[in-house]
Amino acid sequence: MVVTATTTKGMYRLKVVFHEDYRKVYAADPAAAAGRLDGIVAALRDTFAFVTPRPASDEDLLLVHHPELVERVKRNTLLYKIAALAAGGAIEAAHLAARGEPAFALIRPPGHHAGPASCWGFCWFNNVAVAVEKLRQTGEIQKALIIDIDLHYGDGTAKIFAATPQVMYHHLGGTWELARVFANHADCDLVAVSAGFDAHVDDWGGMLTTQDYHTLGEKIGRFARNTCGGRVFAALEGGYNRDVLGKNVKAFLKGLDAELGS
Ligand SMILES: [Zn+2]
Repeated sequence: MVVTATTTKGMYRLKVVFHEDYRKVYAADPAAAAGRLDGIVAALRDTFAFVTPRPASDEDLLLVHHPELVERVKRNTLLYKIAALAAGGAIEAAHLAARGEPAFALIRPPGHHAGPASCWGFCWFNNVAVAVEKLRQTGEIQKALIIDIDLHYGDGTAKIFAATPQVMYHHLGGTWELARVFANHADCDLVAVSAGFDAHVDDWGGMLTTQDYHTLGEKIGRFARNTCGGRVFAALEGGYNRDVLGKNVKAFLKGLDAELGS
């Protein structure tokens, strides 16, 4: 693990987990498009400390996926390499969070449409699910709340944890209402955020402003501080307008960090 920090970055507790290989074009879909992450990296690099992750092992991936899915992805060497590295990035962010260090996994491919044995919607491995399940298996957490702020419903995550009451999945799309979600899960000991930004007014969804992402970050950060000692991590899902992705991710993370104290 490599941590780079400067005095200005020291203003924020939140760390960004990123690997240069995430910039590689591993598929022909909008999530894998050339340059998609560049604006986000540029927006975050001078503000937050960056951490370099390792790839997830097959053992990690098999915590939530059937062997057939892992083998299927493996047939494409580049895709498997980047997808395993994305899951590893989420695991790193989750480990930081479990130690009380808020973190954002700036990763791709996204993961919330990947179920136990199937995947679609530009996803291959379910990064957030792998990371949460790994913390559960190692005993670092008992109960987790996954909040999905992507435009789309994370059917893969919902399916993976359908029979696991200790891990609750909530998609905010449409109502963007957090109060009821928080009221029902005040006993969780980690919050994971499937952080898609495709609901923005200038992205596919046309709903949320940049300020809305800041507010979402503040609300989630405050809840995590009050319920589980600030144990919270987020991982990138969707978001496709390169002109606004950087400022939206930064607004969300600043909101999250603001409530978690320096
Ligand atoms: Zn989406």
